[in-house]
Amino acid sequence: MSNDTVNRLIEEFAKLPGIGKKSAERLTYHILRVHQAEALALADAIRNVRENVRYCKQCYFLAEEEECAICRDPRRDHGLICVVEQPRDLLALEQSGTYRGLYHVLLGRIAPLEGIGPEQLTIEGLVERVRNGSFREVIMATNPTLEGDGTALYLSNLLADFPVEITRLARGITTGSVLEFANKEILADALAGRQKF
Ligand SMILES: [Zn+2]
Repeated sequence: MSNDTVNRLIEEFAKLPGIGKKSAERLTYHILRVHQAEALALADAIRNVRENVRYCKQCYFLAEEEECAICRDPRRDHGLICVVEQPRDLLALEQSGTYRGLYHVLLGRIAPLEGIGPEQLTIEGLVERVRNGSFREVIMATNPTLEGDGTALYLSNLLADFPVEITRLARGITTGSVLEFANKEILADALAGRQKF
């Protein structure tokens, strides 16, 4: 197809993770075929999420205000902080229904082979929170992978001099698996059985 406008959409779709040229074309033809309102709803949703959703300035979870709903919730235990890699890990722990503390989302993990160092994560913010806050426990809930474990170890060394207890989720979660795919019961057990780092 040689229409520039259409090609532009194909190119935009092809930039998305997991979408090749063929899929990008298929999505584009789909957009052309559905009702205009349906296609524009997708465009609106993309615009909305980018204009209205940002990272919480405390914990880096998704927020529509300066701070996310969890950080602003006075009923949560503000003495407890749980460190996760991604917003989706936080959501998995929330679904386990047993954790009532705060979070810190790293927005990744230390991955030397991919060139991701501590400075690319939200580690500075975490140290700052631990330094200023009144946390009694920091729970490392990075994924039980080589890189997740390495990140947890790095953080526990970094926080060792602060008067907080540092714990790690229990190994109910199989090594190598990731939090977002663990079921609720396993996550609840892993939280309940957390151990001193
Ligand atoms: Zn927050």
